[in-house]
Amino acid sequence: MSSSKINVYFRKKPFVPLIDNDQDIIKTKENTVYVQNLKPRVSDKSQYMSFNVPLLSQELKNNDIYNSTVCDDLHNKKNILLLAYGQTGSGKTHTLCGNNTEDGIIPIVIKNIINSGQTCTFKVVEVYRNNIYDLQTNAKTALTIYESNKRLKYKTYPVITNISTLEDLNKAIIKVNKNKQMGCTKINQTSSRSHTIYYFLIDNRQQFIAIDLAGNERGYLTRAKNSVENLEYISINQSLFALKECIRSIFLNRPYIPFRRSKLTLLL
Ligand code: ADP
Ligand code: MG
Repeated sequence: MSSSKINVYFRKKPFVPLIDNDQDIIKTKENTVYVQNLKPRVSDKSQYMSFNVPLLSQELKNNDIYNSTVCDDLHNKKNILLLAYGQTGSGKTHTLCGNNTEDGIIPIVIKNIINSGQTCTFKVVEVYRNNIYDLQTNAKTALTIYESNKRLKYKTYPVITNISTLEDLNKAIIKVNKNKQMGCTKINQTSSRSHTIYYFLIDNRQQFIAIDLAGNERGYLTRAKNSVENLEYISINQSLFALKECIRSIFLNRPYIPFRRSKLTLLL
């Protein structure tokens, strides 16, 4: 991993046609992604929009993604914040948590920690409609946070679990998945409408934080059917915007990072 403050990687999910003649609108070549311009403006008639990003090959499995992203920093005992960002269905949860056929980056990291004789503690919260919930309990009351001496404190603390075996991790993850706020948008039946923050403290000094961000899709695609869904959609976009502003400030070395605009960035 390079020594820059923020590293961005682009992973494209292998294309699976949903209907006859379905076309892949994303093409990749070396380190450039071309996205088909479905609504070209009069002033811009180009068929594809192009983005230069470090591209991870479509054939790579989660373990290869782990090796090309967090592996070195993990072994060099650096603190890591890993954000999975993308449209619903683009593979964020698959990359972080995996499925029955392959592990995601989180279990791979934890397996490495356990195999190297280290232990860690684990807490996990979700930010849903700008409220924070502990995902290790099924309590429906939000956690309250406050600032004291420039440090963020919880009024009621989320549950902390010690992880020393893979079984500990599996048990914790099963509990988390049960407690998650699931909605079903038109795009993905199990889409999560919240941001999930997995927080591991390794041997009491190294932090590994992985965030499965809520999918950012355009309103007309999700077709919110009621006011709750509309509020979810507004809250997701506001917090993603706040996160973007923070990343921009860090990247530009600005003296102030506007982290108080959402609970997600406040927590981070
Ligand atoms: P998101 O969390 O971004 O909404 P998911 O991770 O749930 O999306 O992915 C949607 C579906 O696509 C899942 O069934 C997942 O297993 C599958 N999928 C995602 N990425 C890949 C990949 N790289 N290879 C194979 N299947 C994938
Ligand atoms: Mg997901």
